Amino acid sequence: MDERLSKTIEDRTEELAALAADLIRFPTVNPPGDAYRPCAEFIGERLRKRGFGVEYIRAEGAPGDSDRYPRVNVVARFDGRSRGSAVHFNSHIDVVEAGEGWTMDPFAGLIRDGRVYGRGACDMKGGLAASIIAVESFMDVYPDFPGAIEISGTVDEESGGFGGVAHLAKQGYFSRPKVDHVIIPEPLNKDRICLGHRGVWWAEIETRGEMAHGSMPFLGDCAVRHMGAVIRAFEDELYPALDQKRTRMPVVPEGARRSTMNINAIHGGQTDDYSGLPSPNVPDSCRMVIDRRFLLEETLAEVKDEIVTLLDRLKGSRSKFDYSIRDIMEVLPLMTERDAPVAEAVAQGIREVFGREPEYVISPGTYDQKHVTRIGHLHDCIAYGPGILDLAHRPDEWVGVADMVESAKVMAVGLGRLLGASGR
Ligand SMILES: [Zn+2]
Repeated sequence: MDERLSKTIEDRTEELAALAADLIRFPTVNPPGDAYRPCAEFIGERLRKRGFGVEYIRAEGAPGDSDRYPRVNVVARFDGRSRGSAVHFNSHIDVVEAGEGWTMDPFAGLIRDGRVYGRGACDMKGGLAASIIAVESFMDVYPDFPGAIEISGTVDEESGGFGGVAHLAKQGYFSRPKVDHVIIPEPLNKDRICLGHRGVWWAEIETRGEMAHGSMPFLGDCAVRHMGAVIRAFEDELYPALDQKRTRMPVVPEGARRSTMNINAIHGGQTDDYSGLPSPNVPDSCRMVIDRRFLLEETLAEVKDEIVTLLDRLKGSRSKFDYSIRDIMEVLPLMTERDAPVAEAVAQGIREVFGREPEYVISPGTYDQKHVTRIGHLHDCIAYGPGILDLAHRPDEWVGVADMVESAKVMAVGLGRLLGASGR
């Protein structure tokens, strides 16, 4: 890789670690969506000083938005000296709650032994910091670059991205001609390119029964027992069938390279809050939330039909069985092709920095790429960033300083190729 660019980034190693630590010190915990505004303003003010045009976009009326917890996003743009394509680095600024088990303050931004610790270090304030340093270094070395560079800090990714990337995408922030290429620095490891994710269908299944006194259950009809029959059918038929559905998508970890379904929640009968005395009722309703992850090889209609067919068969075979099903969330699977410009540019960065071919992966769960592609209709989008995926959302989360530096180099090389400005 270009020596000057490489050295410029290396010289800013301490600054990069400090920037990640500064970002961690904003406790942008979601829910409820704390400290979004000061964190967005911290990013925006830094980039404004570098000459970026900065916009703050609050997603008014989005889920969770209130005056106490405003959904404030920041989008910064720098137009080069001549026309060209626009490259956008998008990071979410929200983090999940700290949870138990920390051996340090999760929001202190501790830097120790070549690592930056804290909630969000890896997912994904380390990636955000790396992209900022990559962009600033690139601009120092190539001040006359053509095209435009954008950096955004967006909210609510951990809760679906509705007040963040989805909101911005609806307003054209992730569409041509404003933007051509998008890199999302999620923690997928510094030598891997994430091309997309599996699909998701969340649904609630309800079985119904009839109330009666618990001492005479035969007078009623127990909705929980009906749900038991649903689970038995899942175990006997559905799960073995899902296990057989393999995909050409390179999903990591390997165990997710097929269809899966989790039962997120199940509830029947009286409330789980036993502060009062339990009462002896036959439950007339039982509800289950399923989380089905599906593949490019499956359509959403097939995925739904598989479940509905099973439930309809129970309706035919089991006395008094009745059910309803309600969609909660649907996300189609996505896979950007390896020869898409953004994937090729970042792959070249990995070759130049690490001297080897990138690994191409697909995320088992979704992230904001879905909104860029589905709402923004922009298909040239990947995730690439430092940090070890397995550390995300865990206690003592950290990101390696050297990993951030190396991935900043990869991003800078990719940026140069996409803008056609790296003097090749
Ligand atoms: Zn993330």
